[in-house]
Amino acid sequence: MTSADQPTLCDADPSALKMQDALDKILAHCSQVTSTELVDTSNAMHRVTAVDINATLSVPPFRSSAMDGYAYRHAEGSEPLSIVGTSLAGHPYEGQIPRNACVRITTGAAVPDDADTVVMQENVEVSEQIVNVKIPPTPNFNVRNIGSDHLAGQPLLSTGISIKAAEIALLASHGFDQIRVKRKLRVAVLSTGDELHRAGETLKPGGIYDSNRALLISMLQSPAIECLDAGICTDDIKSLKAAFNKIDGADIVITTGGVSVGDADFVRTALETSGEIAMWKIAMKPGRPLTFGKLDSSALFFGLPGNPVSAAITCLFFVKPTLDTLLGKATKELITVSAILDTDLRKLAGRVEYQRGILSGNAADGYRVTTTGLQDSHVLTSLQRANCLVELPLLSTGSDAGDTVTTIPFSSIGDNLI
Ligand code: AMP
Ligand code: MG
Repeated sequence: MTSADQPTLCDADPSALKMQDALDKILAHCSQVTSTELVDTSNAMHRVTAVDINATLSVPPFRSSAMDGYAYRHAEGSEPLSIVGTSLAGHPYEGQIPRNACVRITTGAAVPDDADTVVMQENVEVSEQIVNVKIPPTPNFNVRNIGSDHLAGQPLLSTGISIKAAEIALLASHGFDQIRVKRKLRVAVLSTGDELHRAGETLKPGGIYDSNRALLISMLQSPAIECLDAGICTDDIKSLKAAFNKIDGADIVITTGGVSVGDADFVRTALETSGEIAMWKIAMKPGRPLTFGKLDSSALFFGLPGNPVSAAITCLFFVKPTLDTLLGKATKELITVSAILDTDLRKLAGRVEYQRGILSGNAADGYRVTTTGLQDSHVLTSLQRANCLVELPLLSTGSDAGDTVTTIPFSSIGDNLI
């Protein structure tokens, strides 16, 4: 039976937590990692700054030219100027500039101390080493001041910034060859289920391939995270406990499966004897059952639902903010886009629902969104074809074609996801 056929008219469960309440409870268990390491700046992509960094240099470190042209004193620009030398990028002009004279200069070259203005070469006439300024610039034009990008002593980057190309370039421009970052988080991912096979194996009757490990490891892939592939575990307490014991030094252990009704006791019992556990129903779809706790090893534990789409969505809304909090990284606000629905979307009241959609359009003409089709939580193609989530509120019973709905573009969620 698919969710569309379900006979219930209301999906509300009084014991279910609101998503924000569940997240608050999870984050209350998280403390930032304190260990740090030095990495080469060029190798710091996606790592998280562990200290506040101040600029030790002003950039640019000297007054430099923004144009190819001639450097001179503005007050003398109405007279012919004789060319007395050159200042090239990396090769400053060393001498003085006499009265009614100028220096040929290239972009990025030092503006001589006794010049205040650069006229671009297109705006002069040059004949026999004499320059006539035809279109005079304003004083100080084309001169980049010392520290006009950033001044020495001023804060450059604060703690908790996820380093991207712009940060790497900024650090490089200030001469930092190394940077102190938070140590990598270690996250173990384990699939549970007697039906699961590894890719490449021959499926037995009733078997399916394990997609969750690949999904989660890929979703979490980041230079700030070391993912440990803990394999597949069968549906019994002994195997699960043995698998937990094998995982060494993880900050977070994530399992999938074994948390739906009927299976729940198996994860619960394994956890109860290997740590502390909180099991919740969360008023969301996909992904109502979620297990969270702490293992004896002090690793945080997430028991995500077995259906792949549920695993992806719960990872997105609960595991990702946990990782950010452990790394001391400010969690990004999800950016939402209002879009007009192309098709009717139905749901039951009682859970916030994240259906997968295809968003198109632009800010000027407006955005439209259409469904990826069957929304059951085993349907991985609903994720692969999508470029956004359509958020349907808790109490709604769906929206009609033509209605405006809230979407969350995948591009705003993260680089790896879906
Ligand atoms: P469970 O939560 O264990 O009852 O699993 C719910 C559904 O998800 C079942 O249809 C499972 O076969 C499926 N499932 C569980 N784990 C995985 C996995 N690692 N990859 C793909 N499907 C899975
Ligand atoms: Mg199972």
